[in-house]
Amino acid sequence: MFARSAPTRMQAMARFGLFGLGALWTLPNTLIGLLVGGLGFAFGVRARWSASEFALVFRHWPWGAGGALTLGNVILHTGNDLDVRCLTYAHRAGLCTEASVSLADHERAHVYQYMVLGPLFLPLYLLCGGISVRNRFERAADAYAQRGHGWWPWPSRRRLPESGRE
Ligand SMILES: [Zn+2]
Repeated sequence: MFARSAPTRMQAMARFGLFGLGALWTLPNTLIGLLVGGLGFAFGVRARWSASEFALVFRHWPWGAGGALTLGNVILHTGNDLDVRCLTYAHRAGLCTEASVSLADHERAHVYQYMVLGPLFLPLYLLCGGISVRNRFERAADAYAQRGHGWWPWPSRRRLPESGRE
């Protein structure tokens, strides 16, 4: 009985603590997002906290080609609802015909990436190619949106058996 309830509570507390630390670590990015998002209020932008994305979502963003941009725990979104389908970067680049993914899931992956990398996120993101299908951050976000895991841009290397050495 103790073993059934304690881990759930402990896991929730651990998650809360980790998310809090991550939010603190990526606060500089979040502040940029709040500043940019706040500018949109004069143009009809609305803000709403999204617990599932762990981010403040600025909706009806009037600029951009359509879609969303994540800055720390802030998401700037041109539409009304993040829970829409969008094409993956690979699909848009004509590399494959994989199914569309949830925009909310894709942006949630970026929020996780931001909370782990904090101030390192933007320099690393730009070094990896910026907004491009070649960017490992975007491919990881698409992978997470497709499979529910794999948001970390550098997949862990599995130790190959001796016979599988390349
Ligand atoms: Zn993205």
